[in-house]
Order: sequence, then C-alpha cells, then structure tokens
Amino acid sequence: MNTAIAKPQPLSPASSPGAEYPLWGSASPGGVYNSHLVAGAIFVALALFGAINAWLVLWLNGCLFFGMLFDRRTWKRKLAVGAMPGQMLLYAQVVLRAAVHMFPYYAVAFVLYLGIAPVVLPLNFAISSFVMLYGFYMAIRSYWLLRYLWVLRFRWDRAGRLFETHQANLKSQTASIQHVLWAYCIGNVGLVVRCASQVMTIGLFEFLRQAWNLDLTQHPQWSGHVMTIFWGTAAIWLATFWFALQPAFLIYYRVHRTFHTCRPLYDSIHSIHHRGVLPTPLDSGTISPLEFALTELNLPAGMLVPNWYWTIAQVILAVAGHFPSHETNTWMKSGQHHLLHHRFFNVNFGLIPREDARYGSLYRENSPTAVAGSDQG
Ligand SMILES: [Zn+2]
Ligand SMILES: [Zn+2]
Repeated sequence: MNTAIAKPQPLSPASSPGAEYPLWGSASPGGVYNSHLVAGAIFVALALFGAINAWLVLWLNGCLFFGMLFDRRTWKRKLAVGAMPGQMLLYAQVVLRAAVHMFPYYAVAFVLYLGIAPVVLPLNFAISSFVMLYGFYMAIRSYWLLRYLWVLRFRWDRAGRLFETHQANLKSQTASIQHVLWAYCIGNVGLVVRCASQVMTIGLFEFLRQAWNLDLTQHPQWSGHVMTIFWGTAAIWLATFWFALQPAFLIYYRVHRTFHTCRPLYDSIHSIHHRGVLPTPLDSGTISPLEFALTELNLPAGMLVPNWYWTIAQVILAVAGHFPSHETNTWMKSGQHHLLHHRFFNVNFGLIPREDARYGSLYRENSPTAVAGSDQG
C-alpha cells in the first residue's frame, strides 16, 4: 500500500495549446488574495449603496480576514498589491472572452424566459431568494466544519492516520484543523457569488422583459395563450437541456485551464482552491468570488430549473467532488477525476473527463502513463 502523494507538479505549458483562452499582456505573479480583496471592495461599495445587507458585508469581510489569518504564508505573498492591476487586466480578458462565448446561449435562454416568466416567475423568485440559498450552503458547511473538527480533534488516531499518510494539507492534526477552519472562512466568501448569480441573471432578464415591453400577458395577441406558450417553452427546454448544458462544461474547462497556464491569474484567483491538495468537502467552496463569477456564466442551462433543485444538485456535486479520495473512488467517478486534478495540478481541468480527453489533459490513475504514487488505501 503506497500512500505517498506525488510532489505537486510545476505549472507546465498546456499539452494542447489553444484550449485555454488566449490573453494579451502580462503581469507579475504574486498576491494570492488579490481577487478576494477586489470582491471585498465591491461588497463594501454595494453595502454603501444599500444594495447589500450591512451584516452580510461584515460577515463576508470577517470571513475573509480570518481566512487570511489562518493562512501561514507571508503577508507579502498573500497581498502583493503591486501585482493587482495587471492581474485584473488579465482577468478582464477572460471575462470578455467567456462572455462572448456564452452570449448566444444567453440570448436563447432569454427567449425561453419570456415564454415561462408569466407562469413561474413568482414561484421561482420566492424559492430562489438569496437568503435561502446561502443559508442552505451555510447549514451544510457548518455541519462539515463541526464534523471535521470533531473527527480531527477526538478521532485523530483512527481518521487521522488516513490523512497523515498524505504530505498535504491534512498531514498533521494541527495542519488539518487549521486547513478546515481556513477553508470554512474563505469558502463562505466566494459562495455569495454562486448563490446570487441565478437571482441576478433572472433579475437582469426580468428588467429587460419589462424595459422592452415583452411581457406576453400585456399583448392581446398572446395573452390568451400564456399557458400554451409556457408548456411549449417547457417542452423545448426539456428537449434541448442536454445541448444547453454543453457550453457549461467547455466554459469551465477553458476558464480553469487558463487559470492554470497563466501564472498571475493562478496566483491571484485560482491558487486559493489548490491549498487543498487532499481536499475536504469544505474545499468545494474555497474558490475566488471572481472565479465563481466566471464559471457561473454556465447559468443559462440551469436557469429554468427551479432554483432549489439546481442548488441541491450543485451542493451535492461540489461536496462529493472534494471528498477524500478514499471515500469517493468506489462510487463517484467525477469526484475521483477532480481529486486527481488537486494532486497533480496540470491534468483533469474539466468538470467531467470528456473535455480533458478531447484536449489532451486527461489523466486516470490506472492509465499506462500514470504519474508515480498510487493511492489505493
Ligand atoms: Zn485547478
Ligand atoms: Zn477542486
């Protein structure tokens, strides 16, 4: 039973150039919390304008602050504010390219929205309120926080041996407790974006629907057929859901891979998520708010699903994807796929293996080209 973890690989050039978004310009590496600071500034600005509850802003920035405190890296490495403008310029390019990429899907989603809005809007808004989603996440995360702290503190002899064998974030009792506390704090910050993104998308669509006078119930020629249009739209949506889902996988792959091949973006945005070399379920939230803002662009696919179901599915997938591998490799292949990304960094960028197979970054533990260090505990 060889349980040694391979040393993290240095970031290497993409094996198949072109799969990531091209960028012009460059910036210095450094400043691992820069994107969090930008998000924190945005939250404060929104609070000042009264758009966000002041307590929420206090909570978010408190989590950010304590997360940074739990992080043992030097403050110079954590902040490096001088590198921030260049990093944000690179980030803006990724946003632009991803938005252009997604625009046709948003246009189609908007048309579908027009067909269903007269019927489902009140329900959808009621159950997708931000408070409910974020509260749901917090309840699950608090459970994992308490469970992990309890296990690490009182059951280390049994559970800890499993972690200890990995020279990673869970290598010792102290390191594990520190990592779990850190992941809890930092994860609470970015998840705000995930929880708000669907509400914001529907809010934007609703604003456009009103502004462009596209409410079908207000038009005599359509108002008598609202239910027919609704069922027709729902049928089209169901029939095309699988196709609408495809850009989500591709966008995620390209954004993720871009973060790995561009060192300044890796430092300022994505490196946060890779503190968990052996991730815990709490690491499913240790994602920069600015990364969430990008990967949540896959929303058109899920927009018409009642938000509550969609969120439950997201939580289950995200949490399952970050179980310690011993708990996943028997039943959750996608979890295993992503865990290998956490261990070897420059493979398995996709949500599912398909894009990795297509663009030459797929790695399976039992493949002939296996990286040293098998992990069949
Ligand atoms: Zn990554
Ligand atoms: Zn991950």
